[in-house]
Amino acid sequence: MKSGVITLRSIELAGFKSFAKRTKVEFGSGLVAIVGPNGSGKSNIADAIRWVFGEQKNKSLRSDKSEDLIYHGGTGKSQASMAEVVITLDNSAGRIPLQLDEIEITRRLYRSGESNYLLNGKKVSLTSIREVLAKSGFGVGSYTVVGQGMIDRLVLADGLERKKLFEEASGIKQFEIKLSQTKKK
Ligand code: ATP
Repeated sequence: MKSGVITLRSIELAGFKSFAKRTKVEFGSGLVAIVGPNGSGKSNIADAIRWVFGEQKNKSLRSDKSEDLIYHGGTGKSQASMAEVVITLDNSAGRIPLQLDEIEITRRLYRSGESNYLLNGKKVSLTSIREVLAKSGFGVGSYTVVGQGMIDRLVLADGLERKKLFEEASGIKQFEIKLSQTKKK
């Protein structure tokens, strides 16, 4: 594993929560702040980052059920049939060993309940996404995406929960995933 960092290049949201129209947010270099009035969708962008990285818990995405993640329409606006989030990561430092300078992860959810993941345009399983992220020290539970209230949870977490977090952040998680797959086989 190389030691370079991975940075976010962009995130694209379509039909995800309040983002009815396809919206692309480009992240330049350095520190990026997203500002806007209350309820304008800032936290929805953070939710989208966690979701595209494979978050399974609706509560962590501030919703009661998966369908709530799909744009539900408004006055004179019809609901979306699908939610899609595409995140592009800069891998030019080679931290993710895929020999790709740019890694694009897509997650889609249809109202039928059908859902899928794509890695650079190719359909893959959630396990593959998790493996790729684990190799880089990224993950839904790690400190890489910190939402409101997460710090409180971390402080209050028990030993086992904290262990999981450190494993994800340090890149050990990838070996746990492999071990569990091997055991299943
Ligand atoms: P604050 O500054 O108050 O934290 P925020 O900018 O972070 O606000 P969000 O929490 O990201 O705002 O967005 C909340 C808005 O998203 C609400 O208006 C809510 O109605 C809308 N929203 C959430 N889910 C959906 C959905 N499925 N369809 C349409 N709108 C949605």
